[in-house]
Amino acid sequence: MEKADFILKAQYVLTMDETADAVGDETAKTVGHEAAKDTACRPLLIEDGAVAVRGDKIIDVGPGKEIEKKYDPAAVIGGNGRLKALLPGFVNTHTHAPMVYLRGIADDLPLREWLEKHIWPIESRWLGPEFINDATELACLEMLKGGITTYNDMYFYETHAAPAVKRAGMRAVLGAGILDFPTRVAQNRDEYFERAEELVNAFLNDELITPSVAPHALYTCGPEGQKRAAQMAEKYGIPMHIHLSETRWEAEEIEKLYGQRPVKFLDGLGVLSRRVIAAHCVWLDDEEIEILAKRHVGVSHCVESNLKLVSGFSPVAKMINAGVKVTFGTDGAASNNDLNLLGEMGTASKLHKTVSGDPSAMDAKTTVKMATILGAEALGLGDKTGSIRKGKAADLIMLDLDKPHLTPIYNIFSHIVYAARPSDVENVMVNGRLVVKDGQITTVDEKEILHKARVWGKKIKESV
Ligand SMILES: [Zn+2]
Repeated sequence: MEKADFILKAQYVLTMDETADAVGDETAKTVGHEAAKDTACRPLLIEDGAVAVRGDKIIDVGPGKEIEKKYDPAAVIGGNGRLKALLPGFVNTHTHAPMVYLRGIADDLPLREWLEKHIWPIESRWLGPEFINDATELACLEMLKGGITTYNDMYFYETHAAPAVKRAGMRAVLGAGILDFPTRVAQNRDEYFERAEELVNAFLNDELITPSVAPHALYTCGPEGQKRAAQMAEKYGIPMHIHLSETRWEAEEIEKLYGQRPVKFLDGLGVLSRRVIAAHCVWLDDEEIEILAKRHVGVSHCVESNLKLVSGFSPVAKMINAGVKVTFGTDGAASNNDLNLLGEMGTASKLHKTVSGDPSAMDAKTTVKMATILGAEALGLGDKTGSIRKGKAADLIMLDLDKPHLTPIYNIFSHIVYAARPSDVENVMVNGRLVVKDGQITTVDEKEILHKARVWGKKIKESV
């Protein structure tokens, strides 16, 4: 028998590792699935399955009986008589993780007033290395306990977020924010790019951290900054992370300023490519949807943030039909107000059935793909994470299904999207390390992180 560090056993193993043979070319194409090129047939769901892990990698996946015959594991997870589902970890493709410290500080306002009168003044008072480190600890704790193993961030002082992410044992794409105006972070565009270069130089070949460049949005970082960011992304082979067409105001303002709608204008600048992950994409015309598909831009759909800030309804079903890679983001916790990807999946799936007038839109399987493999591919991490496949990193989550709200089970995909909750996540593994065990974080001190957050909350409250 071969040695393994872990065998993870579950009644339902959702590999999310489908191929052209398993689902047919047509479906694979409509959800933008790159694995469709692969011809080997792999099942999307294995009942009574198991996964073997050694070091940081998945070394095998298949029927539980076969895996148990082949491997001698140091530890077994699952198979304790309770019903379990095993999935690839969720990928949160748009957030501003440190904003968990501003959760609930200003609600019930439109986006620009919320940003300009509340969020930006607090950030300009408090943002700094210590804030970023402490707040990132809290965000990682919340995300891991809810089954998110990878997140895509856009914020500032990201070199100080990275150690907190690594201590938690999480995977992240950290984007250095670029603006046209001076803040505590930098006095001018050159300095913002210097900060971004520092981040890239520190983490370019890191196992868990992928650096990225994040020109905030066209209305805060104009054409020069956008072009320079795209060149930087190309030079280092890293993602570029932007907000795009979030509000009607933004779309109209960009058209007024530059004579073209945002997506078309950015495309004319030559910045759109598969390196780009664009958050929101709410106000799009048909031509812009075609451009996003043609340029292989990853879209991060942030349904709860869009609903709360009344930004509008993103044409998600139309984008999926056009072949755009649509994924899920929580956005920052100040506009959501949690980092709960299961919540985003359920809300988005239901909302877009109504918006498109089609109850088959965003079916449960498509929705789980968007939260896993498509998210990983949109971040350029599709060869590393996002599905359960031999050779990929062991980024896995196990849900406990022995719950009233998950009983009985007819269709596991349906339960994941329409009924499961973050509190059902029992075990989480990132890069082969068991970071949540029986619902408890193993890597950091939860009590201490919550205590620090309360102390910060008191300081911030007294300052506004
Ligand atoms: Zn955002």
